[in-house]
Amino acid sequence: MKTIDDFNFKGKQALIRVDFNVPLDQDRKVTDISRILAAKPTILKILEDGGAPVLMSHLGRPEGNEEKYSLKHIANTVSDVIGVRVKFAEDCIGKKAQEMAEALVPGEILLLENLRFHKEEKACDRGFAEALSKLGDIYVNDAFGTAHRAHASTTVVADFFEDKCMGYLLQKEVESLDKVLHSKEKPVTAVIGGAKVSSKITVIENILPKIDHLIIGGGMAFTFIKAQGGKIGTSLVEDDKQDLALSILEKAKAQNVEVHLPVDTIATKDFSDSGENTVMDIKAIPDHLMGLDAGPETREKFAQVIAKSKIILWNGPLGVFEMENYSGGTIALGKAIAEATAKGAFSLVGGGDSVSAAKKFGFDKQVSYVSTGGGAMLEMLEGKTLPGIKALE
Ligand code: AMP
Repeated sequence: MKTIDDFNFKGKQALIRVDFNVPLDQDRKVTDISRILAAKPTILKILEDGGAPVLMSHLGRPEGNEEKYSLKHIANTVSDVIGVRVKFAEDCIGKKAQEMAEALVPGEILLLENLRFHKEEKACDRGFAEALSKLGDIYVNDAFGTAHRAHASTTVVADFFEDKCMGYLLQKEVESLDKVLHSKEKPVTAVIGGAKVSSKITVIENILPKIDHLIIGGGMAFTFIKAQGGKIGTSLVEDDKQDLALSILEKAKAQNVEVHLPVDTIATKDFSDSGENTVMDIKAIPDHLMGLDAGPETREKFAQVIAKSKIILWNGPLGVFEMENYSGGTIALGKAIAEATAKGAFSLVGGGDSVSAAKKFGFDKQVSYVSTGGGAMLEMLEGKTLPGIKALE
């Protein structure tokens, strides 16, 4: 599969699918520029080659042509972040957009109106994709956050291009995961936490053959503890997944993967940050209490595994990190991963909620890579080939 470095964009129009689905406040001002920043290296490479970037994205979930979801609201921010003039096309297809794309001079960018103003985008309409393809000589996909969705601009449009490639962001996401799942260095440790076993089962099954240690934490650990005969009180549990939990443990054993489950928990009466709480054995929680975070012994035990790991994947928090009293387990884990990274381990945080936890506690700057796409990363971890990536083959 080609990457952006395989092309010289001099004199070419590059049609780039970016993920500029950014949050806006009530005055339609961008409140978080991360996604624009993430696409910056790709846009700069094309500009530096002497090419003309034509940017297309969706924003929100508009029902038709809704002004509040117009990408015109973000044009100035894109201009500030990239540092060049951004022109705006009021429709993402058609004669006007085509003329504007062709009239771009080196150092200018064209931003197209919201792709989802046309229902044909989500419907993967070929005619719509062909109309989009008229706006570029080379197609670049750099929208990792939507690469797991098959839409006209992420998949079908690629059929109309001879020259197509991944942008730097997409490439970095794919390479980071590859580093984790196909590493020659050992040991490889995966931390799988979060709320439910059911949402992580395919991930666990897919990564088992590729890892040496599996740390299971968060709410999903209670299904394993109960399945092993522990008393978990009113803690989160998926009773119908107990057999599945036991079969995961058996599969792990058969594949020589060492599984680490929590041994203690911080338990309280209600799902709230205000009640009293107690540290206790995770297998002996009284009937009226629920475990909401990893206890001190668990934190220490997990930190020891992390400290000796060369490759670390972190997916899912170890407790209810949104509540101050139950964020300690997730913070301790983040700290252990940051320390291992500082000593040379490669660490990837991604898929679902762990990214917001890492950002909330400032670990995003202390790990090797933080994935930009929750759902897309989760699907890659499940072993799926994302439609947006497949389309570039
Ligand atoms: P996920 O999206 O599956 O990664 O799950 C993340 C959610 O799991 C977060 O909102 C956490 O609050 C929640 N969580 C973690 N540990 C627990 C727990 N012990 N009890 C209930 N919810 C938890």
